[in-house]
Amino acid sequence: MSMDGRTCVVTGAGRGIGAGIAEHLGSQGANVVVNYRSSGGGADEVVDHIETLGGQAITSQADVTSLDEVEAMREQAHEAFGPIDVLINNAGITKDTRFVNMSREEWDQVMDVNLGGMFNCTKTFYDDIWEASEGRLINISSIVGKQGNFGQANYAAAKAGMFGFTRTIAIELASGGSTANCVAPGFTRTDMLEEVPDNVKDRIVSQIPLGRFAEIEDIAHLVGYIASENSSYITGEVIDVNGGMDL
Ligand code: NAP
Repeated sequence: MSMDGRTCVVTGAGRGIGAGIAEHLGSQGANVVVNYRSSGGGADEVVDHIETLGGQAITSQADVTSLDEVEAMREQAHEAFGPIDVLINNAGITKDTRFVNMSREEWDQVMDVNLGGMFNCTKTFYDDIWEASEGRLINISSIVGKQGNFGQANYAAAKAGMFGFTRTIAIELASGGSTANCVAPGFTRTDMLEEVPDNVKDRIVSQIPLGRFAEIEDIAHLVGYIASENSSYITGEVIDVNGGMDL
């Protein structure tokens, strides 16, 4: 299998896109660290599912906004599997409201998880990725980082910030042979999408050339390819999975 012997950390993997990524990587033979903040039950199910498929996985509770908790996660990962090869910064939140109504707290919370969490995890696992043969940093951004979206000034700014960060890390990692890329999903069927009002969802789907929202597997399969050794000549990219929304 394409991920045999590779160890991956997936943040926010107790539900949604992160859970789908973790299960897909496990199905490809990876050892998976299933990070969660509050979805412990979901994380246990993800581990069970990976083990059913013959893979190995552990859960690790850490709030990605806490550097101490992320460092404790690294200890757990090392104890279970040794140094990691792949970090997937997937944990993310929204706090949507029109900019005129947006509080500084709503701005800070979104920055803290989406950008601060990415900083903490990348900082903590950077040496592992650098030293791995074909190490991978994969940041889950969003089409909203490119296009903006009504009520999401904080989220759009954070997701666009991931692009510049990823390109810079790609440059810094390159001489060691490891890569960094962003995946930018379009609107994907998860709890996050459920928070969007139905009339807005209808408007969005009418703007998607492929005529449907993304399924979690659409994102997970691309991440699986980038995480594998087969993608070794792709770095510094923002790869869209959005049904043609920006055509
Ligand atoms: P979701 O269903 O709302 O799940 C969010 C995930 O992030 C949960 O697993 C949650 O963990 C985790 N999380 C949030 N804050 C955290 C923290 N401080 N520490 C650790 N984990 C934390 O979201 P999703 O739709 O799966 O989205 C996953 C990623 O894809 C996000 O980065 C999102 O921005 C991006 N994305 C989503 C869409 C979409 O339409 N769904 C589109 C483009 C991009 P717990 O449940 O354990 O707290």
